[in-house]
Amino acid sequence: MSKLDDRQLEQLWKLFSKVSFDKNDEGLTERFLIWMETTNRFAIWLWFAERYSGAFIDLPGKLVWQEKGRKSEQNCECGHHIAAGESCYFNQKYGKVLCENCGKRGMTDIWLFEGYRNPWIRTAEDPLFTRESFLEVGSVDELIAKFRHGNWSLGNAFVYKNLCFIQQVNGGDEYLTLKDWCAFDSISFESVLRHHGESYTRQYINKLLRYKIEERNSPEYTIVEALI
Ligand SMILES: [Zn+2]
Repeated sequence: MSKLDDRQLEQLWKLFSKVSFDKNDEGLTERFLIWMETTNRFAIWLWFAERYSGAFIDLPGKLVWQEKGRKSEQNCECGHHIAAGESCYFNQKYGKVLCENCGKRGMTDIWLFEGYRNPWIRTAEDPLFTRESFLEVGSVDELIAKFRHGNWSLGNAFVYKNLCFIQQVNGGDEYLTLKDWCAFDSISFESVLRHHGESYTRQYINKLLRYKIEERNSPEYTIVEALI
């Protein structure tokens, strides 16, 4: 299977997306091609990413949080009814609208994958980098308090709205920063706080919330210059 072209990989991805897995440990519950049951499905995501010459994200499709929802009512695949204006997640490639619950899960899939292909985060052992590594915070102030606290373990992640910050150094201050489907920066928040103060940091986070990742030219994971 080493000489598959992109079209074949896209076909295989379609098949793979129908394969069932255990939601608790991400292991397949049936065989898929060369992979046995219980294979962690992100190992297969990595396999695709290594071979696909386009941007990997175009296989699952870019997922975007829509805080103000859609103009018309929608039904999520789980059966949940999404009212017009209710916040939801949108996958443009497949024209799929997901409810908050399903969308969060799908978004965490993408963030987990970005962690697994990050040379530092993928080595997290104590604890392992899993779905449990993500802690959702309810406000910018809460997020700043977490950054100020510092000393987080490798792979520890904070989520605020559609922003995600994953610690890349054990006890360090290097947050892989993601917005929606896109890993776009590495930011030292304790340092920003120390040198620029809290109100600057708050504005900075608000700027990240407004940052338009779709205007980025490079399709793949690259670290761009910090916005500061
Ligand atoms: Zn749903």
